[in-house]
Amino acid sequence: MEFFNWQIWVVHLFLSLIIVMGYTAVHGVLWEMAYGTTQKVSGGVRSAVRVIIPLWALVVLFTLSYAMYIDPMNDVFYRNLQLVFVCIQVMDDNLDLFSYVVRVGVVYVFLFLSFLGGAVSLPLLVLNGVTILLASVVTRWRRGWLNDSYLLVGLILIMLACVFWLPQTHVALANRLAIMVTYLAMATYVFIHWHSMRNRDNRMRMLRQRADIDSLTQVKTYSRFHDDVAAMVTDAQERQTALTMVMLDIDHFKSVNDEYGHPSGNDVLVGVSSLLDDVLAQHAGMHQIYRTGGEEFNIVFQDAKPQDVIAIVEDCWRQVREHDFVVGGQHIQVTISVGVTALRPGEGYEETFKRADNNLYMSKRHGRDTITVDGVTEQLGDRQIAMFTYSYYTQAIVDMQTGVTVRNELLLRTFDETMNQWRLPDNFDISPATQIDLLRRTLGQLEVPAMSVNLRQDQFTNLRMANSLISFAHQNEMSAPLVVELTDLPPLALMERYSELYHNAGIQLYIDDIESEQSFATARPYLPFVDGVKFVLQNARRDSEGTALHKRVVSWQQEAKQYGVNFVLEGVESAADAEKGLSLGITLGEGYYYSRPALPYLR
Ligand code: GH3
Ligand code: MG
Ligand code: MG
Repeated sequence: MEFFNWQIWVVHLFLSLIIVMGYTAVHGVLWEMAYGTTQKVSGGVRSAVRVIIPLWALVVLFTLSYAMYIDPMNDVFYRNLQLVFVCIQVMDDNLDLFSYVVRVGVVYVFLFLSFLGGAVSLPLLVLNGVTILLASVVTRWRRGWLNDSYLLVGLILIMLACVFWLPQTHVALANRLAIMVTYLAMATYVFIHWHSMRNRDNRMRMLRQRADIDSLTQVKTYSRFHDDVAAMVTDAQERQTALTMVMLDIDHFKSVNDEYGHPSGNDVLVGVSSLLDDVLAQHAGMHQIYRTGGEEFNIVFQDAKPQDVIAIVEDCWRQVREHDFVVGGQHIQVTISVGVTALRPGEGYEETFKRADNNLYMSKRHGRDTITVDGVTEQLGDRQIAMFTYSYYTQAIVDMQTGVTVRNELLLRTFDETMNQWRLPDNFDISPATQIDLLRRTLGQLEVPAMSVNLRQDQFTNLRMANSLISFAHQNEMSAPLVVELTDLPPLALMERYSELYHNAGIQLYIDDIESEQSFATARPYLPFVDGVKFVLQNARRDSEGTALHKRVVSWQQEAKQYGVNFVLEGVESAADAEKGLSLGITLGEGYYYSRPALPYLR
């Protein structure tokens, strides 16, 4: 009977734990690359690491065997470590069947070679082989309550320790028991480490899912859309297959919110997305639905051209407009506008997305509640599609010293269907409601959220228009006060009254197009009621040259200064114009030199 040396045992226990900690740390990193979900690893690297893990384990195991051979005094210490490392191999988490079989193979090769080397007897080899296999099978295919059972894990570990160590009668019983305690300490550490890894992995997965699935509508989010569609487009380009992108947006959704309240709006949103889901499910095929904006959805059809899916899209459009969304006892109907486009050879996903968006916008321009497929708006049902519509072009008014945009002048355009282009409208009589709708839309498209809008004097003194603009200015955050540019002047008495109304709401007033001597004379009495005047360079250039022009600009600018009103130099077309303006101490400029009028969303 050997003497039980507890000092050696304590040292071995301590060293065993240190070694196991190191081993599990390395194993953990490799495992995360091979089987985890928290890191983005390419398929090739993943497969390689799956092979490297068991190979590396073999190297460690044989190093320990060699240690036993050259240092037989401490063989139980080395063998105990081997047992732990062998168990880690086959009881590992998330193993696919192939990895599992490979690892079981590695363990058996090792056991068998140990047997050939005389380290274990045949009965012991068989006993250990069967026990380890059994333990790994139970761990791998655990289900239900067993899945999270600490008791099960504990029992398996104790069983492994007993089966491995108890039959080794050449070791004194006290030593065997002590070494089993060491084994259980190591195994417990490994288990705790594995458990916390798994928890972390689950948590990460949950977080990722939260970012991927929209919590309101339960469809995929924009962040997921970005990754998925980029991959789908690359894939379609590589395989040279078709792909169709469908973008849809609920019409006048803001009014639904305004009329029924935001929570009801949410319910309608959920209703629309689940209806879309149902309709799509009725048609077989590969599609994905994403919520890419507040009330905007995107559906991607793989392996399909627009003509293959147009029937499905029309079905979506029809079912939404015919559906009665019952929210809090109220019946709400909505329609959608849709843009459809096909992926073109060689393009990236941003281009497809942009084109789908433009098609959607075309549906909106044509009066909404319709579908536009690559530039062609469908005539659905018996409803005429609107033949013209308005939009604002914008042109920057800049700080002439820095070139920074101070605000954007809005220039009304109408879309000419016959010419297929935007043009100046024949008249500027748009209703206050349309005006506000356009303002709101344009504001959302501006990089610098500050605007100046042109009004005729009759529009300026229209109380409904005034009130609409005032409430617009109140409701919308802008980086500078809203400016109204007067294209002509009302009677002075009206000006006095209305300027107060606008000013009280924080709206600034400018007199537009002061170009000639008379116009300045006419404007002079209005100067106390305005915040600025705009002087048009081109017009003045036409009838006076050089010093005369210079003199006029100077005198008008002086006058403007005297009344404390701002001076905007309009029609700056060249660096020379800009320099001239600057030399006269003018700070605000507008013109082709800085920016040409264009649709803000196309800038
Ligand atoms: P259009 O026909 O041009 O699409 O008009 P619209 O009012 O639907 O479009 P717009 O994009 O100007 O306004 C969208 C509105 O959708 C603004 C916002 O209040 C509302 N909205 C966005 N997300 C949500 C949401 O999650 N819930 C609710 N209830 N409303 C939302
Ligand atoms: Mg909308
Ligand atoms: Mg929208």
